[in-house]
Amino acid sequence: MADQDILTTLKILIIGESGVGKSSLLLRFTDDTFDPEQSATIGVDFKVKPISIDGNTAKLAIWDTAGQERFRTLTPSYYRGAQGVILVYDVTKRSTFAKLDMWLNELDTYSTKTDVVKMLVGNKIDKEKIEVNREEGLKFARRHAMLFIEASAKTKDGVQCAFEELVQKIIQTPGLWEM
Ligand code: GDP
Ligand code: MG
Repeated sequence: MADQDILTTLKILIIGESGVGKSSLLLRFTDDTFDPEQSATIGVDFKVKPISIDGNTAKLAIWDTAGQERFRTLTPSYYRGAQGVILVYDVTKRSTFAKLDMWLNELDTYSTKTDVVKMLVGNKIDKEKIEVNREEGLKFARRHAMLFIEASAKTKDGVQCAFEELVQKIIQTPGLWEM
């Protein structure tokens, strides 16, 4: 049997307000590219990428919103079966930070796994006009038992780390990591 046939597949979601850089983070991670004019209307359904951590190999199926988040809500099937979630806000736009509670509520409503691992990502730290500082992001993440990292899809900062730490936590969580 080929190796790929026995790989665990993990479903990872990327959620958050429109324009925060979800698709850009995904493309930076999977294809190592960045498009400064990334169109809000173009979103993939999901991308698959293998990942190896501490001798564990998994296939990540990372789901993008395909722009549906502009209607403020995603379908229940989007959330179904996900082991990990990356919730993104834009550090230069406070309104996207203010919406985090709404996204967590939606996740709670539709998630089928109660112990889904959550990573909060403050994106666009390469920019100058920061409206949400690191401490605020960290505080929010702690309060909601989330992992936290600041990142830039443009400069690559924190992008690889965000996915790796998320998967590492999934591996450590009983019931989420099994063949
Ligand atoms: P989405 O709607 O959440 O998927 O956001 P997109 O990935 O489409 O990004 C929205 C806009 O922000 C695009 O013009 C991107 O080029 C830009 N963008 C995304 N990430 C970054 C980043 O880390 N830094 C900068 N400066 N711009 C970014
Ligand atoms: Mg998008």
